[in-house]
Amino acid sequence: MHLLQALLSFEGVEIWDRSLDSLQAGEYEVDCPCCGVTMFVVIGQDDSFCCTDDYALQEVRKSPLQPVRTQQLEGLPRRLFTRTLADGQESLAHAVRYLFGRAVCPDCGTEFSVAERVVAGWIP
Ligand SMILES: [Zn+2]
Repeated sequence: MHLLQALLSFEGVEIWDRSLDSLQAGEYEVDCPCCGVTMFVVIGQDDSFCCTDDYALQEVRKSPLQPVRTQQLEGLPRRLFTRTLADGQESLAHAVRYLFGRAVCPDCGTEFSVAERVVAGWIP
């Protein structure tokens, strides 16, 4: 959590503004912090999961995402959450909780922070 907060303050708001665009699309590509496999993190209204294969083309092994509790949101994530809610974008606010939540690598079982991996894979 400390790493994430440091990253948020160093990287500034731009990355998260652009991340919100990805959030609209509902998909991120991230690397596993342990085994390095490339994953799709899919945040949808009905189903939120991560997987290592192209889920659009085939049946894949899905690993469910764990959204952060609303009460645990603070700093920038909280601002994003309240801003999207204030804009009436409830589905986006819902997605923010998954973006700042946790996921488990389907290959090696390592739990990681989705937002941290998004930042780690960020190319300006
Ligand atoms: Zn892994």
